[in-house]
Amino acid sequence: MKFLEGKLDDIAAGREAPLSRRDLTDILESGPGIDGPLFRAASAVLGRNSGPGVYLRGIIEISNACQKNCFYCGLRRDNPGVARYRMNSREVMEALTHGWNAGLRSFLLQSGERLGGDFIEEVCAILAECRSRWGDSVRMVLSLGELPADVLDRLREAGGSRYLLRIETSDRGLYDRVHPCDGIHDWSARDACLRHLRATGWQTGSGVLIGFPWQTASVLAGDLEYLVDLDIDMCGMGPWIEHKDTPLDKVREQAPPRARRVSLTLRMIALLRILMPDINISATTALQTLDEEGLEKGLEAGGNVFMPNLTPPGYRADYNLYEGKTAVADDLESMITEGRKRCESVRRLLVLGDPGDPLHYGRRLATEGWMSGGAAPGDAIGGRG
Ligand code: SAH
Ligand code: SF4
Repeated sequence: MKFLEGKLDDIAAGREAPLSRRDLTDILESGPGIDGPLFRAASAVLGRNSGPGVYLRGIIEISNACQKNCFYCGLRRDNPGVARYRMNSREVMEALTHGWNAGLRSFLLQSGERLGGDFIEEVCAILAECRSRWGDSVRMVLSLGELPADVLDRLREAGGSRYLLRIETSDRGLYDRVHPCDGIHDWSARDACLRHLRATGWQTGSGVLIGFPWQTASVLAGDLEYLVDLDIDMCGMGPWIEHKDTPLDKVREQAPPRARRVSLTLRMIALLRILMPDINISATTALQTLDEEGLEKGLEAGGNVFMPNLTPPGYRADYNLYEGKTAVADDLESMITEGRKRCESVRRLLVLGDPGDPLHYGRRLATEGWMSGGAAPGDAIGGRG
């Protein structure tokens, strides 16, 4: 314990102190005494790299229809209790415009995984419209599940800049326990999709679910190493939350208690911040759902992104990945006011009018030579204010 605290103090002071897999596991398993040194180290690393800014990413949940059947998710195909919806382009553009007018410059379009019909064409048309209205001042982020490489390429050409796809867990055996074994839930395919995104110029985001049944601290330590190896630009990780209409809910007593899931999530954020100083990490809605002060705590652990929900109120209740999803306020203006207050309460600065590109992305583009090869709109090393 003293040894780990010493290492974390070194990191806080800016001295080299690599964390081994064993160290990561031990920190995740430690008693509460480790939190002070851990969060101090993560804050210091964040301060030296990305600074105090907290960037906003407005989320619009454009459809809850899904072809998949993940055992943990309320939107799974076999849950008949969900009223399925798909927002039309006009509704999406209205939500985006509302966000733009309030100063947001980064928007996440999220949905269940759906391939059929004209869904992808419609998303492409929305991206093109955003590009023609707002040019390079906006970053369109997509989280539409695992899509074939050619579809991802089309979305990128249409104006997508960032893609979020959580690996959920880096442990293939555990992945198979929380997904059906039916050919469309395949860890290797998800990993390949992420690597395709990473190689084709997307700002690539991933993350994991934290604190679900059967997951161990050593698996979580492996998750951190996986994210480092993938060399992601952004991360969203949150606690697993029960949903009564899912198979995983039947074994809920095998998961850690909720307070422990929150604590594990905060430690995962802090450790990832130390391992990847210049990426963007969000304080997720799931974290805020399990802890009223989840936003503040997520920022103090090293997060630098806050995601207000722009989904029209009439659809929000049908986008139930898990039970009890909360928001810091109902309407966007109050979310921004409340978000700003909460950021300031932990000495952080909410930033409007800036898409907040992860510094990591600009750096890797430069080293990979993308800049000289002619970067697409949205690839510039964005001003971080
Ligand atoms: N369908 C897309 C995007 C929407 S789901 C996809 O799966 O990638 C977005 C995220 O919600 C998932 O990656 C998963 O990690 C999270 N999620 C699903 N069910 C959850 C639950 N019960 N508790 C917490 N997070 C959950
Ligand atoms: Fe569908 Fe995503 Fe939920 Fe899995 S996690 S069931 S892919 S919405």
